[in-house]
Formats: sequence, C-alpha cells, structure tokens
Amino acid sequence: ETDEKLLEVNNIEVIYNHVILVLKGVSLSVPKGGITALLGGNGAGKTTTLKSISNLLRSERGEVTKGSITYHGERIQDLAPSDLVKRGVIQVMEGRHCFEHLTVEENLLTGAYTRSAGRGDIDADLDLVYSYFPRLKERRRSQAGYTSGGEQQMVAIGRALMSRPETILLDEPSMGLAPQLVEEIFNIVKSLNDNEGATFLLAEQNTNVALRFAHYGYILESGRVVMDGPAKELRENPDVKEFYLGMS
Ligand code: ATP
Repeated sequence: ETDEKLLEVNNIEVIYNHVILVLKGVSLSVPKGGITALLGGNGAGKTTTLKSISNLLRSERGEVTKGSITYHGERIQDLAPSDLVKRGVIQVMEGRHCFEHLTVEENLLTGAYTRSAGRGDIDADLDLVYSYFPRLKERRRSQAGYTSGGEQQMVAIGRALMSRPETILLDEPSMGLAPQLVEEIFNIVKSLNDNEGATFLLAEQNTNVALRFAHYGYILESGRVVMDGPAKELRENPDVKEFYLGMS
C-alpha cells in the first residue's frame, strides 16, 4: 500500500431510471497497491459504486448525476468500459459470468481482447494466471459451465488478470462459496496484491473475511458512507462488531 491516491470518487450521486436515487454522495479513495473494501448489507449501494467507476451503469439505465471520479488525477466518467480497461481498470462482476460453453482456457483468453500483445506475451500471462490458480491449469480444457462455483470465480478473476490491470474492482467474490473456498480466493487476492502490486477495490457483504484481508474499509448504508477507517480499527470498533461482524 502506498500514499499515492490512484482512484478517487468524490461525492457521487447515482440515479436509476431518472428517478431512483441510490447513491447519495459517496466519496472514497483507493491508494495504489492497497486492498480497499466496500462493505454493507444487501442493497447498500456497493455494486452501484463499482459500476459507477467502471462505467457499466448506462446499460442499467443508471447515471452519475453529481460528483466526480478520477483515476491518476484524470476524469474517467465518460470513458467506455473498454477504454478504462486499456487504462488499467477492470471490473469482475458479481455472479462470475463465465462463457459457459467455452473452455476454461478460452475464457481466460477472452480477457486479453483489449491488448495488441503477441501470442508470446499472452502465453506468458496465461502462465502467470495458472501460477496463481493451479486448479485452472488442471481444468483448462474443461467447459467452464461444468466447473464448480469456486472455479468459475477463479476464471472470472483470471480473465480480468489477462488484461494486465493495475486496478481490479471485485464484486462480492465470496458470494455462494463455501468458507474454505472464500479463504482460498482471498488468499490469492492477497498474494496478487503482495507479489504483483495489483490494487483492489472489493465489494463484500462478508465483513469478517473482507476486514481480515483489506487494508482499509468503507461501510455503506442506504447509499451513504457511514464509517471508514483502517481495517484493523474497523474490526475493533464496537458498532462494526455488533452490526456487521456478528452477521458473517
Ligand atoms: P447487493 O449486494 O445486493 O448487490 P449492493 O450493496 O451491491 O447490494 P446495489 O446493487 O448497488 O447494492 O443496489 C443499491 C440499490 O439500488 C438497491 O436498492 C437496488 O434495488 C437499487 N438498484 C440496483 N440496480 C438498479 C436498477 N438497475 N434499477 C433500479 N434500481 C436499482
């Protein structure tokens, strides 16, 4: 984790369908090389915040109506999602979203689409992904639709890595996974952060696991940040203990 602010969200408001106000002034900042967690219950606005950054709101009739979002100090709000990927920001969507009829390896290769890299580079990136996810190497010729939920989450993260991102927006990586797999996925996130310097902003309902792996956390309630601080402090905060840590 460094002091350099990579991504900054300043007081954004988001409205769906022209009328439904969902984010009511959310601000957060993501330091380069950190793991930042966005916490909160169902419907608090975590996914909406991530989609505001990656500019995936438009397809859901959502719009950032106030505030600003900058990356390396530059406004990124009007960029197409694919241009953001070229700048190094990629979102791994909630629910994994593999191409079920493609093999695991074909799924990973689709992640390299924004790059003009040669086959040699792409092979090197595949090797890197397989070094973090040895299970995907074993299953590389299997149809993604027939792999387990945990493996599909690994495919989704692996595919994002193929674009050589600087920052990964990870939506609810623990969703639907057994505790042991959640632990495995978070350990991989941590080692990608430690060894590759990847920056993460992750949305999680599982406060417990997120605060063990993240450096800093923001807690959202009804479209507002109600608390933020270093993960260690949040873990020890009595309100967080009572309202969030008991739940998971
Ligand atoms: P979850 O973990 O359930 O995804 P979340 O914290 O990520 O929760 P969001 O998905 O961002 O929350 O949803 C925030 C609020 O916005 C919810 O009240 C939800 O019903 C509403 N919402 C989300 N998407 C849309 C949409 N496309 N149109 C209208 N309202 C929406």
